[in-house]
Amino acid sequence: MPPAGPGVGGPGAGADPEPGASAAASRLHLRAADIKQYMYCPRIPYYTYALPLPHRSSRKMEYGLEEHFRLERLEKRRRLSRYGLEEGERRFRVALDSPRLALSGVLDLLITTRLGRFPVEFKFSAGGPRLNHKYQLVAYALLVEDCLGCAVRAGFIYLVPSQQIHPVWITAEAREFCHRVMAAIRDSVARPGLPEPTRHRARCRDCEYRRFCGDRL
Ligand code: SF4
Repeated sequence: MPPAGPGVGGPGAGADPEPGASAAASRLHLRAADIKQYMYCPRIPYYTYALPLPHRSSRKMEYGLEEHFRLERLEKRRRLSRYGLEEGERRFRVALDSPRLALSGVLDLLITTRLGRFPVEFKFSAGGPRLNHKYQLVAYALLVEDCLGCAVRAGFIYLVPSQQIHPVWITAEAREFCHRVMAAIRDSVARPGLPEPTRHRARCRDCEYRRFCGDRL
């Protein structure tokens, strides 16, 4: 079992989704990364799905891709005791697709031991794990359960700059909140008009959609 760690905040802890997706939007197929992005700024999934716009890779994204490959090579040589787990199987870049959830994504790492399966997301940001990272991980846990037919009780966020590994418990509240965020994304895409921007202006600095947000230039 992973060591006891922080759970995931319940409803109200992060974005403030309002459920009530229209019938047209209810089956919009999302990616697990959309949950992270919506909680970062509600406009990003809107730009992705309602107004597909050309966008260029940000410096952060390019750096992240290079680092992912380097990290995979390192991780293959490391022991799972770093996660508080006994030895097991490691699979990198696991593609998951659930028609039932209308959700898909490519998970960074899936650890399988005799105690169960544990999704792992690699993050390259400084500081502690962020709420949007945690709920992206919860979305991957839902995908693992649905695609591989098993229960997922916990996963991990691996913060690459600090080499810290944070366990995240996949609680009933976390699952419920993740479903609410997905409903809110589908609803916001179906509604006319641009969603409100994030309240955190600093997030606009490195955003690849910045040039489309006239109120944030
Ligand atoms: S520039 Fe700012 S408001 Fe616009 S999408 Fe990016 S984070 Fe959101």
